[in-house]
Amino acid sequence: MTTELYIDGQFCAPAAGGSFPAIDPATEQEFAQVAAGQAEDIDRAVRAARKAFDSGVWSGLPAAARAATLRRIAQGIRDRVDEIAALETRDNGKPLPEARWDIEDAAFCFDYYAGLAEAAEARGDTPVDVGDARFESRIRREPVGVVGAITPWNFPMLMAVWKVAPALAAGCTIVLKPSELCSMSCVELARVIDAAGVPAGVFNLVTGTGPEAGAPLTDHPLLDKIAFTGSVPTGRKVMRAASQGIRTVSLELGGKSPFIIFADCDVEKAVEWILFGIFWNKGEVCSATSRILVERSLYPRLLDRLKQATEAITIGAGDEPGVKLGPIVAKSQYDKILGFLDRAKTSGARIVTGGGRPKGFDKGYYIAPTVYADVPLDAEIWREEIFGPVVSVNPFDTEAEAIALANDSPYGLAGAVMSDDLARCYRVAVKLRAGIIWINCSQPTFTQAPWGGFKSSGIGRELGQAGYDSYLETKQITRFDHRQSWGWYLDAEASQ
Ligand code: NAD
Repeated sequence: MTTELYIDGQFCAPAAGGSFPAIDPATEQEFAQVAAGQAEDIDRAVRAARKAFDSGVWSGLPAAARAATLRRIAQGIRDRVDEIAALETRDNGKPLPEARWDIEDAAFCFDYYAGLAEAAEARGDTPVDVGDARFESRIRREPVGVVGAITPWNFPMLMAVWKVAPALAAGCTIVLKPSELCSMSCVELARVIDAAGVPAGVFNLVTGTGPEAGAPLTDHPLLDKIAFTGSVPTGRKVMRAASQGIRTVSLELGGKSPFIIFADCDVEKAVEWILFGIFWNKGEVCSATSRILVERSLYPRLLDRLKQATEAITIGAGDEPGVKLGPIVAKSQYDKILGFLDRAKTSGARIVTGGGRPKGFDKGYYIAPTVYADVPLDAEIWREEIFGPVVSVNPFDTEAEAIALANDSPYGLAGAVMSDDLARCYRVAVKLRAGIIWINCSQPTFTQAPWGGFKSSGIGRELGQAGYDSYLETKQITRFDHRQSWGWYLDAEASQ
């Protein structure tokens, strides 16, 4: 089976033909071929999106009509949740229950932004007092236009929907380029969108590699905005490309997020959230809390319990019942993580558990959940995003030290703090330089709350109202009271 592109309301093969394999990371077997779109396909897709936007076929609809279509998309996803979740698990390796969360969240995201579009239209323009009674001024929000969306492989459908749902709700048209490592669920998204009756050209899908399809998309002169989620190095290239066309760019990039645990915590609860913070989705999570800071008096006890609990995690194929840790998405990422583990041997860090392939697995890209302790602060595993099931733990003595260590990173996506003392938690939350702070938990994510990073973790916000607003342009409309005279040239002449 070879997938197709979706351009201008039609499923089609890439102009130059060509495809690449979709691999099941649990078996290392190919299970489909993915259409390899290239510059010519991107050009056709962007032109279709431009034409659809400029025609007003979508942006000119009342919000209620767009919202009704978005709700049909949400229902279309829900109707196929089991099937799409199974496909996501096969493509990415994540445990099936986690894939179900993703797909259900994706459906909800369309419902949520349908509601925001209706609310925005009901609010209408915003009056502005310009301080001169002869003028009436108002602010109008309009769709930004044609959006190019480039997404990663860790939450393949959900990361795409975080862009597609608000963009469509706002009245934009879009060309989506998902990751070549996990494209399959986005092909199903195109089918659902097509079946929901979205007009031709409003949503377009071009699967393909970063250099062959992603780069031509970021370079395309007819785009108005680029919405990117991925790594910092690619984010830099995307921003550079956007600068050529002076286009709006939003970047959701990587992280190395800290989790501060104070000694007054319940150890069981702390361990539960540490595990969820780094081993959920195999640690392939931008906001994973991969640096743990533990108050020194709790440090030995917490490490003992963390070791025991980590070693009890059920590893296996994502579709096996009870599995909590699936295989790494692809050979390239698997090799990258093994490289980190190999170099960590000489970093001075103490290995607590894991550190390589788990015993008993001779097929599949499996990595044992891995814990390091006493990690030198300049060690690569403490400083760099590994994007796998690997966590580093260090002790601290004072609140100020914990905050300083937590903030000592070029990243600022997320952070977490745990203590019985809520005043302390909020104090720390305010001091952490990151866009998302969890108190007494790590990772729960809500469509209604803004998502994005400080520092090298990105620019802009997705989700929530901010995620909707990022697909809008701001226009002022200012009216002079024509019964009055301005009195500068003609009227001034008359009065001389
Ligand atoms: P990546 O940067 O390798 O690829 C992301 C996307 O960019 C893919 O679709 C890829 O094909 C495309 N791409 C590659 N080269 C390109 C180029 N030159 N021009 C245009 N597009 C190009 O990232 P990845 O490995 O797919 O994803 C993992 C990264 O994503 C991690 O760093 C993770 O932290 C980050 N991430 C961030 C968030 C967030 O919300 N902040 C969410 C998920 C993932």
